[in-house]
Amino acid sequence: MGKAMSWHYLQTTTSKISLFNLNTSSMNFDSKEWNPNLWPPFTQIASSSPPQSVWAGKGALLLRQSAPPLIDAISSWWVTLHGHSHPYIATAIAEQAQELEQVIFADFTHPQAEKLAKRLSQFTGLQRLFFSDNGSTAVEVALKIAYQWWQNKCEPRHQLIAFEGAYHGDTFGAMSLGERNLFNAPFEKMLFPVCRIPWPATWREDQKVEQKEEFVLNQLEQKLETATAAVILEPLVQGAGGMSMVRPKFLQKVADRVKQAGALLIADEVLTGFGRCGTLFAFKQADIQPDLLALSKGLTGGFLPMGVTMASEEIFSAFIGDDPQLTLWHGHSFTGNPLGCAAANASLDLLQQNPQQYQQFEARHLLHLKTLEKHPKVKQTRVTGTIAAFNLEVDGPQGYLNLAGKTLKAYAMESGVFLRPLGNVVYLLPPLCINDSQLEQCYSTIKKGLEVL
Ligand SMILES: *Cc1c(COP(=O)(O)O)cnc(C)c1O
Repeated sequence: MGKAMSWHYLQTTTSKISLFNLNTSSMNFDSKEWNPNLWPPFTQIASSSPPQSVWAGKGALLLRQSAPPLIDAISSWWVTLHGHSHPYIATAIAEQAQELEQVIFADFTHPQAEKLAKRLSQFTGLQRLFFSDNGSTAVEVALKIAYQWWQNKCEPRHQLIAFEGAYHGDTFGAMSLGERNLFNAPFEKMLFPVCRIPWPATWREDQKVEQKEEFVLNQLEQKLETATAAVILEPLVQGAGGMSMVRPKFLQKVADRVKQAGALLIADEVLTGFGRCGTLFAFKQADIQPDLLALSKGLTGGFLPMGVTMASEEIFSAFIGDDPQLTLWHGHSFTGNPLGCAAANASLDLLQQNPQQYQQFEARHLLHLKTLEKHPKVKQTRVTGTIAAFNLEVDGPQGYLNLAGKTLKAYAMESGVFLRPLGNVVYLLPPLCINDSQLEQCYSTIKKGLEVL
C-alpha cells in the first residue's frame, strides 16, 4: 500500500540528521544561490537546488528568466486548475478589485460570496458554507464543527477516525488527523490521538483489491463500536500520501458504515474537488453524501488562497440558540474575501461551460499509461480523472525519501517538464488546459527519464 513515508521508517533510521542529508553530493548549501530573506516551504536547503525565477505563467507553461518554458505537470502544487493566468479569471479578479476588495464578513456580506455559497450548496448538497483561507484551515473548521456538534447536542463524542497515509494539512488539528511521519515528528507530543485504519490503495490490474477492502471495512466496523465523532477521508485519492487511489465502491461501503454508527463523515476534497477526479467532486462517484466537506486548492482556479467548509443544514442548526456556547467561535481576518470569491465564481463558470474537459481527461492519461506500464521500472499504475500515478520499482528506502524521484525530477526539468515526485511515486496532475502534445511530452520525458535511473 502506497505509504508516503512511514513512521516505522523514521524510527528505524539511526539518526534524524541523516534523513536530511541523504543527497550528500549537494549537501553544502551555497548561501549565494539562495535568497537571503526567504524561507521556502517543504524544503531542506542543504539538499535542494535553489528555486528558479518565474516571470510568467501561461496556460500549462511556466516561463523562466533564462531557460526554456516548463510544462507545469503538477499544476503548481495541485492548485492551477484551468491553466496559469487564465484571462477569464484574471479579469474577474481585476474587476472585483475595483468594486470591493475586502469587507469584514461578520457584519457584512457581498454578492460574490452569496453567489458562490448558493452554487456550492447546489453542487455539494451541503447547504452551509464557512469561509477560511486554505486547505488546512478548511479541515480545521470541519474538525471543530464536527467535534462541537456533538457537544452542542449534549452527547459528546471524542473518537476520531482517519486513514493511514492521510494528509489533511499542516496546522495542528490537520497534522493530528494526518499520518504520523517525518513531517510532523517534532510535534508528536502535541498532536491529539486519532484512531487509524489502513487505506486499501489499489491500481490497475490489482488482484487483491477485494480482500484489502474487506480487511479495512472489518477494522472500521470494530473501531466504530466505540462512539465516534467523525471519520475523515480524502475521497478516491490520497494526495500527499502518494497519490493512493481507492475504488468508489469502497467509499460507498465506508460511508454506509459511518452512517450506521451515527458518526459524521468529513470529506477532505481539498485536492480532489473541482473536477480533478473526473467528476465535479470525487464523492459524487461513490454516490455518497458527506456531512462536512473541505475545499481549497482548485476552488479559485488556483488564483488566490481560499478555503471553504461545507456543512449540512442539520449540523448548522445545532449551532443556533440563546446559549453563547452553541456558537462556532471561529473566523479569519480574510473570511469571504471578495477577490477570492470572484475568482471562485469565475472558475466555476469555466467548469460549467466545459465539463467534458475534466470528464474526458482520464481517457487521455490512459492512452499513455497503457504503454508506460509495460516498462519494468513502472509498477502500480493508477489513474483517477486528471490524476495519473505509478510507483518506481527502484532500490533504496521506499517512500518520500527515495532519491529516484529526485533524479527523475532533475532529468525532467532539463527536458522542459516540471515534475515533483513523492519519493518513488511519480504522478502527473496537469492543469485542464494542457494540450495533447504537451501531455505527450510529459509522458515521453518520463519514459526517457526511466532510463537514467
Ligand atoms: C493540500 C491539502 C491540504 C492542505 O491544504 P493547504 O492549502 O496546503 O493548507 C489538506 N488536505 C488535502 C487532501 C490536501 O491535498
